[in-house]
Amino acid sequence: MSNKPMPIQTAISAPFWDGLKAGKILLQHCSACAKWTFYPRRHCSHCLSDQVEFREVTGAGTLYTYTVARIPTLPEFAGPDPQLLAVVELDEGVRVNTTLVGLKEDDIKIGMRVKPVRARVSEDGTVLLRFTGAHVDLVEIDEVVKQPEAPVAADVKSVRQVPLTDDAALQSLVSEEFSPWSNQLLVDQAMINQFAELSGDNYWIHTDPERARKEGPFGGTIAHGALVQVLTSKLNVDLGFEITGFTNMVNYGSQRLRFPSPVPAGSLIHSRGRVKSIEKVRSGTQMVLELNIHVVGQERPAVINDLIILYM
Ligand SMILES: [Zn+2]
Repeated sequence: MSNKPMPIQTAISAPFWDGLKAGKILLQHCSACAKWTFYPRRHCSHCLSDQVEFREVTGAGTLYTYTVARIPTLPEFAGPDPQLLAVVELDEGVRVNTTLVGLKEDDIKIGMRVKPVRARVSEDGTVLLRFTGAHVDLVEIDEVVKQPEAPVAADVKSVRQVPLTDDAALQSLVSEEFSPWSNQLLVDQAMINQFAELSGDNYWIHTDPERARKEGPFGGTIAHGALVQVLTSKLNVDLGFEITGFTNMVNYGSQRLRFPSPVPAGSLIHSRGRVKSIEKVRSGTQMVLELNIHVVGQERPAVINDLIILYM
């Protein structure tokens, strides 16, 4: 379950939300002045009559204005693509705040014809009204974030073999460049709750979505830093080499461990790494591997871990 903010139905707005779930767009029409009102309210926004009733409309309209938000408006909206925030003017004359989908940035033009897209955003069936170009073949999308498929065992491909005795080859692994991204993993509230139980850290900012939404600084619950750190084991980072010729390999701990940014419940995370240093120490050869975990689409890491691996 994501912790993106969800619409809260009121008695007045319920027909609109229920309509979306049933595949209909319902707007209030005033029988006194024959004009349309949006968002739902008790009185006509033109003549203040209370003679308003919901009627189904097609949702066709034109793009009134838009903006491309490259910095997410809330951490929960971070993703690989920028948010295409828009105002659409329906043919009935009302304007709707929305998000454009199924369009490339270059294809978006103010004044273009648009049509509605039903976006399913939650397991409970909540549907939000999004829009796309009138020419785009898109009616419905599923935006519920699901656990990505676990990566299949990699084909036996030739990774670079580096013998522990070859100093020059070992030093050539040290790099400023990070590896490609690992597979992605969904950190949901159920996983956070399990970790809270296991660790005994059930501080409300992790486990109480209601309170975290109202009182917390992040608009919802966040994962424990320690949880995200251990998820390293589920994120397969392909460093492109394999050390050979050792008898024992030990995880010796961490040289630096930081949690620079939060992982909101419902986030997808992924990881990448690089070899920071390799040196001979008394007990063997010590490699410092910088592993960074990010929320997908976020530039700032959620975890920086300079892992020390000792080869003997
Ligand atoms: Zn009216």
